[in-house]
Amino acid sequence: MPEKKMLADIEQNSEAWENLLVLADDIGVRVAGGEGEIRARDFLLKTFARYGLDDVHLESFRHRAWQPKREELLVTSEDDRPLACRSSALSPSTPQEGLEGEVVFLERCDEEELAARADEVRGRIVAAPYYPVARQLKTPLAARYGASALLEYRSFSGQLQPARTCAFQQLGGLPVASISLEDAEYLKRLQQRRGPVRLRLRLESHIESKESWNVVGQLTGTERPHEILVTGGHYDSWHVGPGATDNASGVVAVVEAARALAGVRQHLKRSVRFVAFGVEESGLVGSWAYVHQHQDELDDTILMINNDVGGRPSRLAIAGAEDLVPSMEEIARRVQIKDLQQPFAVDCGVPSWGSDHFPFYAEGVPTLGVGGEAVNPDARLYGHTRADTADKVYPRGLSEAAAVNAQVLLAVANADERPARRRTQQELERSFVGTNLQEALALVEMWPPQEVMARYFNAD
Ligand SMILES: [Zn+2]
Repeated sequence: MPEKKMLADIEQNSEAWENLLVLADDIGVRVAGGEGEIRARDFLLKTFARYGLDDVHLESFRHRAWQPKREELLVTSEDDRPLACRSSALSPSTPQEGLEGEVVFLERCDEEELAARADEVRGRIVAAPYYPVARQLKTPLAARYGASALLEYRSFSGQLQPARTCAFQQLGGLPVASISLEDAEYLKRLQQRRGPVRLRLRLESHIESKESWNVVGQLTGTERPHEILVTGGHYDSWHVGPGATDNASGVVAVVEAARALAGVRQHLKRSVRFVAFGVEESGLVGSWAYVHQHQDELDDTILMINNDVGGRPSRLAIAGAEDLVPSMEEIARRVQIKDLQQPFAVDCGVPSWGSDHFPFYAEGVPTLGVGGEAVNPDARLYGHTRADTADKVYPRGLSEAAAVNAQVLLAVANADERPARRRTQQELERSFVGTNLQEALALVEMWPPQEVMARYFNAD
């Protein structure tokens, strides 16, 4: 029974937690373009080789690496009182002397609110919370309504300024920085007591084209080696912290699944490929590079499993392939997770555009996310901050996520028929007409896929 053997191996010999500590504690910050990225790349390469994967190698691509040089925010109407701020990745710089203006607080910064308050927003510095409107959507919307800059504030207390990207691998329409919830509340109180509050924002960053890498290894199938299942997760973090949950945890789950499946490799009819993606945070660049570089294999790529935040898994989230539902439900019924409150579930719907499954989805490959449920209900909320440290990770959840990956991969690698077919671009477009996804993709310029790849990889 290969499945039993593999699960027992994960239960008894898991190296997931130790691997997580190497990535999150020993290496720490793994921002694209930095030293930690290279150390993580080499660690993953060595680990894939140590686990006996075939054809372990790097696949390189270029991206815009970004580095903050100046991040300054002053309350000019309060004798230039300084507040802590973080520039968003790929934010345009402000003029040398800074950009001054009155601040206006919005609750959502979506189209409806911006339209209703268009007169107040024009020419002003807009401040809006991190949630609920996605990070990358507020920037182009605020720019469209003539804001001079955007300050995004964290939705939770703790004096943290989250990192994020204001525009995927392009310069956003306006300077963007993040501030803490506490400083946002201070500014609101000032407005109530003294009327208009004026700020000066000074941002300066360095952007240069750099090389990055996907780390790839595989277990070659015994009967249909050209048919490929991919499981992956990104290994880059933001510059502000060690990205323990986002996404050392996810990539470690992939690595652990590789270790366990290698022990039963003679039972894999199809090939299983393991990919640690580079440069996810600032534009999914590694996963776009993968689909760009493997175009001729995509017809034979029968499933992609993404692991972005490897917590305690609770469900399989299918995107773009209803025909996957029956086989995934069958697998989900077998998945046993000790002490998990609800039964393991399958859901199927319109995908999010914010992680490495998306380029595969855009190419019509059936994709699956391993839904993570943190034990500490707040843990996910530390993502993109300097508090995303190893203490936020649930060690058992890493092994559980690895076990779910390994079970799905083993079952699909040996299924008589491929469980789902590849979608055409027209089919995908029809499926998301009128949904939030269509609107979001237009704003973040993530569609159509061939245009994204041309912009990313053919430009310079
Ligand atoms: Zn992530």
